[in-house]
Amino acid sequence: MDTQTTTDDAHTRWQAYLDSMADGGGSAVEFVDRLLALVEQSPASDVHLDPTETDLQLRWRLDGVLAPLGTVPKSLATNVVGRLKVLSGLLTYETALPQEGRLVSEASGAEFRVSTFPTLFGERAVLRSLGASTSGLETLAQLGLAKNVLEPLRDALAMTTGAILIVGPAGSGKTTTAYAAVREVVQRSRGGRAIHSLEDPVEVVVPGVAQSQVSASSGFTMSTALKSLVRQDPEVLLLGEMRDRATAETTLEAALTGSLVITTFHAGSCHEAIDRLVDMGIPAYAVSHAVRLVVAQRLVRRLCDCALEGEVSHDALPLGLDVSQCMGPAGCEKCAGTGYRGRVLLAEATTKIVPHQTNTLVPFAAAARDLVETGATSPAEIVRTLGWRARTT
Ligand SMILES: [Zn+2]
Repeated sequence: MDTQTTTDDAHTRWQAYLDSMADGGGSAVEFVDRLLALVEQSPASDVHLDPTETDLQLRWRLDGVLAPLGTVPKSLATNVVGRLKVLSGLLTYETALPQEGRLVSEASGAEFRVSTFPTLFGERAVLRSLGASTSGLETLAQLGLAKNVLEPLRDALAMTTGAILIVGPAGSGKTTTAYAAVREVVQRSRGGRAIHSLEDPVEVVVPGVAQSQVSASSGFTMSTALKSLVRQDPEVLLLGEMRDRATAETTLEAALTGSLVITTFHAGSCHEAIDRLVDMGIPAYAVSHAVRLVVAQRLVRRLCDCALEGEVSHDALPLGLDVSQCMGPAGCEKCAGTGYRGRVLLAEATTKIVPHQTNTLVPFAAAARDLVETGATSPAEIVRTLGWRARTT
């Protein structure tokens, strides 16, 4: 594929540039410009800059897994992190406290969230690419959701009230799914529904949605914003993550009083999400009445074309993954020897909103089995992502 070749070339040039800096030459300004250019052209979601006793270690997250990106001589380490702080509007003299800022690349307009954290050998920095993970995944159809998730989601999006919760851990693609869902509402309603968002921060601009960014520091919190927004005659609300009880309460209240609400929540599975809301102090009846659908998801790495037929050994497979056939990772030039290329959604949905229900089903079992039997991913990747253990261990 052409994009892969471009990335490979860019990576080769990057390595040559790092080698040329190894003798202590080079400038921090040029280094940061080149780093941003490299990351913008890649599908990487994050870059980590770790100061050690001897140098600055670089790693980037590709398909959800950290991979080495080279090292920078110790002599440049402080200036590199300092340059990132300047570009993202952080206080350069403040090195003893964590800071967070936003960086917009002058060359391409690409945006990054930058966070710094003091460590033993200097400040550690992490750049998160905003919007990188969502390119080409704008509609529900493009997400590759299975029919048993897509259909109930589309049904729920056609409703006028109730909350749709997209749940998963950090980095599981929840925001991408939420944006795709709201785009579908925009498309289907053709301007006929009043659609608003309250986000922290606004990550992607969606035409047809009145988007607002909440800011806890200025007192414009999710709860206070929602209280005013309900007087704006909203019909559909895209709300940022329900991080605390106050936000969860106001979100579910909006879903009970005449708005369709799409929101995200940190939980491992559909049932865990329902139980956690009750544990947070939301009455069980309110949860069952307000929540219409829960979609739980993970991103698992997709096997590269070089995958080989795997051995189905009952003992080596985790409980809940009883498959009749599977493929395993091999490794080729295209996948840089990892055996995986790109990612695929592992998702399940439920419309049965019953808190603290005794449930014997293993979350994601059916979805995981489908992905493994069709060769989209390997049993090992399911084990890695879901934390399932093989029977022999
Ligand atoms: Zn390969």
